[in-house]
Amino acid sequence: PLPDAAAEAQVRSDDRAHVFHSWSAQALIDPLPVAAGEGSTFWDYQGNAYLDFSSQLVNLNLGHQHPDLVAAIQQQAGRLSTIQPSMASDVRGDLARRIAEVSPGDLDRVFFTNGGTDANEYAVRMARAVTGRRKVLSMYRSYHGGTATAISLTGDPRRWANEPSDGSVAHFLGPYPYRSSFHADSPEQEASRALAHLEQVIILEGAGTIAAIIIETIVGTNGVLVPPPGYLQGVRELCDRFGIVYIADEVMVGFGRVGEWFAVNAFDVVPDLITFAKGVNSGYVPLGGVVISQRIAEHFDTVAFMGGLTYSGHPLACAAGVATFEVFERDGILERVRDLGSRVVEPRLLGMAERHPSVGEVRGLGLFWAIELVSDASSRAPLVPFNASGADAAPMAAVAAACKQGGLWPFVHFNRLHVAPPLVITEAELVRGLDIIDEALSIADGYVA
Ligand code: PLP
Repeated sequence: PLPDAAAEAQVRSDDRAHVFHSWSAQALIDPLPVAAGEGSTFWDYQGNAYLDFSSQLVNLNLGHQHPDLVAAIQQQAGRLSTIQPSMASDVRGDLARRIAEVSPGDLDRVFFTNGGTDANEYAVRMARAVTGRRKVLSMYRSYHGGTATAISLTGDPRRWANEPSDGSVAHFLGPYPYRSSFHADSPEQEASRALAHLEQVIILEGAGTIAAIIIETIVGTNGVLVPPPGYLQGVRELCDRFGIVYIADEVMVGFGRVGEWFAVNAFDVVPDLITFAKGVNSGYVPLGGVVISQRIAEHFDTVAFMGGLTYSGHPLACAAGVATFEVFERDGILERVRDLGSRVVEPRLLGMAERHPSVGEVRGLGLFWAIELVSDASSRAPLVPFNASGADAAPMAAVAAACKQGGLWPFVHFNRLHVAPPLVITEAELVRGLDIIDEALSIADGYVA
């Protein structure tokens, strides 16, 4: 698109005057007016192109304006734009069947929601109904959504301003080998000690009071924390032993982000409930849901499930979901994610870790990676403090600004840069984006003591 100063001014003034933005002090933000997007790139009104290494909010798995998704939505809109949830819809059933087919174990029913927050909200409600218990355990360093239950599950600073919550959530520490809370010196030791800690939390909180444990299969925004070998199996075992429902939050990592339909498949573990959103249709129309095991679904055979949404399984959203499955299968998306991740991203990031003193650790899977920045490699002091903002966050802001200057839109959280481009990114674009990050890291190096 050509630069258009008048259009930009109009977008900016309407936005600043009337749009109330998420998670922000309204007077302190300057939202970028976006003119257009295609594939892995979007453009502002000044004609600047940005390679989107954040896939918007890690939802744009098939990139902007994918022709198959656009056509599917257009066709469905021309045929039947909406239908209420208590009626049966061809496209909703088609998507549910496809999701069931790629789900692990006996998970084969889908309750559709409008996004990831409400998926977690309803998964917890199901677990409470089935167990007759109320408490839920979740990790520090997690994000599960913005509404009352989901924010109380969340283990990051976004929860703090929303406390006190209803008191039915307890948090525990998950594995994080680079910054072990358990004084572990191998991933295996980290897994076993983190499991011993979780077992203690279960016992001390009262196993008989705990309905569910909810875990992001790979912790997303809070660090791309890939669970060490054996950890998730251990969680499964604890849940079985204590009669607790295991909820896998796959809102960010499901639908191909790590080269699997669901990330649990990479760890060979079968949860009782899986929550999803984002990548199911790249967010072209809001959609999320809960995949339900037979055991839990059977509970609701004769007892009503007390939950619902006017737009549950919206036909436009489901049509985009069905098209997503067709594109994934036709274009071998899962295979290309595994290939690009292991052949292009991983070696390149490991190289950056060797050359840049500011890089403490790189970690990830598929097209989902974190570059953790430090001000001192030996003490591992984070480049900016936990929950840094304003002046404290200046070093990360400088790195982000350099990325944008170079034509890349980065995902930045505390002292980390995440690499999460659309799964359809070309190899040339991927290499170009990594080049831009490599160069921007020189700025971070300047802050190393
Ligand atoms: N769970 C995880 C792991 C997420 O990353 C997110 C969103 O970023 C959510 C839940 C909430 O999803 P939504 O914003 O679609 O409600």
